[in-house]
Amino acid sequence: MRVLKKDLRYKRRFIVRSVALALPPLLALVVMWRNGGDAERVAWVAGGFFLLWMLAWVVLDVWMLRRYRCPACGLRIPAPDAVHRAAGQPIRYTCERCQIEWDTGLREAGDD
Ligand SMILES: [Zn+2]
Repeated sequence: MRVLKKDLRYKRRFIVRSVALALPPLLALVVMWRNGGDAERVAWVAGGFFLLWMLAWVVLDVWMLRRYRCPACGLRIPAPDAVHRAAGQPIRYTCERCQIEWDTGLREAGDD
């Protein structure tokens, strides 16, 4: 019988990663601003950083979804089938070896 377990590490890694991605551009902006950069230029750079951040976030998101490993046995589990994923649905991975369904605590993005 298949059991449902929570993978708490995944969500934490997800949050840590998002914060870690945002820190360098934020620090760069603070440094620019403190060095007396004019507001318009700082705004442009901020916009650029934001776009880059979004891009990096999406790329890493896809990468992480495809590289999920079972926390119990380390087996690599392919990303959940896109067909079965709808907005607001929990993101889960099933390890066939352990017969465990891992709940990442994350939900499919989309309008709620
Ligand atoms: Zn497993």
